[in-house]
Amino acid sequence: MDTLESLLAAIAPTGASRDILNPANGNLVAKVAVDTVDDLEKAIAAATKAQVSWAALGHEKRSALMMKAADAIEAHAEPLAQLLSREQGKPLNGPNARFEIGGAAAWMRAAAATPLETETVIDDESGHAVMTYKPIGVVAAIGPWNWPAMITIWQVAPSIRMGNAVIVKPSEFTPLIVTAIVKVINTVLPAGVVSVISGDREVGAALSSHPAIGKVMFTGSTATGKAIIRSSADTVKRLTLELGGNDAGIVLPDVDPKAIAGDLFWGAFINTGQTCAALKRLYVHESIADDVVRELAAVAATMPMGEGTDENNVLGPLQNKKQYDIVADLVEKAKKGGGKVVLGGNPDTSQKGFFYPTTIVDELDNDNALVQIEQFGPALPVVRYKDLEQAIEWANGVDVGLGASVWSADAGKAREVAARLEAGTVWINSHGGVHPLIPFGGAKQSGYGLEFGVEGLKALGVPQVING
Ligand code: NAD
Repeated sequence: MDTLESLLAAIAPTGASRDILNPANGNLVAKVAVDTVDDLEKAIAAATKAQVSWAALGHEKRSALMMKAADAIEAHAEPLAQLLSREQGKPLNGPNARFEIGGAAAWMRAAAATPLETETVIDDESGHAVMTYKPIGVVAAIGPWNWPAMITIWQVAPSIRMGNAVIVKPSEFTPLIVTAIVKVINTVLPAGVVSVISGDREVGAALSSHPAIGKVMFTGSTATGKAIIRSSADTVKRLTLELGGNDAGIVLPDVDPKAIAGDLFWGAFINTGQTCAALKRLYVHESIADDVVRELAAVAATMPMGEGTDENNVLGPLQNKKQYDIVADLVEKAKKGGGKVVLGGNPDTSQKGFFYPTTIVDELDNDNALVQIEQFGPALPVVRYKDLEQAIEWANGVDVGLGASVWSADAGKAREVAARLEAGTVWINSHGGVHPLIPFGGAKQSGYGLEFGVEGLKALGVPQVING
């Protein structure tokens, strides 16, 4: 599996299959297996069996194997990145395919290395109580198409560290890279502990209602998250839901526009805007809005977009036609609503790939669809504000709350504003950076439960108190 060809050969389907096409050019990447609900039953039976001996290994031995799994990802990083780029569309360079595979290895290592001690809850004359975390059993990991390799490892690594087995259900749009990265970690892990079922929504629905599944780790849209809550209710499954967002950034009047332009750009346009916690609505004080927008557009204009496998590019296509249509429609609504298109906004519809140009729309009304609806693509709306209270109200005025950011030269003032924002994470003078030891999760309809760090490990265990 040292080359893209040998990696693809290792995951080649033996039964029913379908084509996966490169969103940048429509070329065939490879065929992928079409698994069924029957295949799912077999995988769950194998996982249920494998979980018992996996749990019995204990933390230390599991962590040692996970460290080796991280080494295996690193040893296969280049063919994995090449496959990710072709299937997802993201460029090899910039914070894209190679970066994502590096992140997958780093998160695997962090989940293996994070200590999880037995907690002594009380130990005095009133009594003695300790709390530990036991394995749940078999976990379902259902993921999206935007960061498919990294999010798979975000879901798998804490699950296996805590002694669970995992059934991974990748997005229909990006099953190859998920199958490949699981193949790579399975060169080290015992059989049956992690397996992939590459099916459609029906398979996802069967998984999230299956009585043998104890927990669903889900990352995807809010609508699907709600369907999973419903289908998991009968068996009272534990859930971690990382759902959609519509992150606001508030720029205070004291910033240096040139100094923040690069970080603003990547906050909004990382992965060509197809990132859950990307900056999706920018509120800028009117006194500096001209300068901020000009500097941001100047940075954006220097960022090459094109085929992922061209080493020069740092922005790619939308991953699929549905997402392209959503972005194109929202930009049209922004134009109709009186927005001033500062950059982009005019796609070349004759090209083969789903490329939407980097777009910035200034002077939009807050109630415009491009502001109110998650665009999940390279089109940033800018809303100018006079009064900070108004900006905070607008930022909080949606029913999701994944991330947010405040941009200011005064860190104290920025933190005060941050504390008033309804979001799971608020960044100061940056947006969207995640760290394997910093808990991450959403507020409001962006979901519940935390990932990463000790909190992320605890979410994959059943707490047990021993009282006495
Ligand atoms: P999606 O909800 O369409 O699909 C996600 C997964 O759910 C796919 O694997 C799909 O097959 C599966 N699925 C669909 N119906 C199902 C059902 N009834 N039961 C079980 N599984 C089912 O999401 P998407 O379009 O792939 O991803 C984009 C969305 O994900 C965006 O809204 C984005 O903000 C969000 N997202 C959130 C985070 C986060 O950490 N909060 C990270 C990445 C993406």
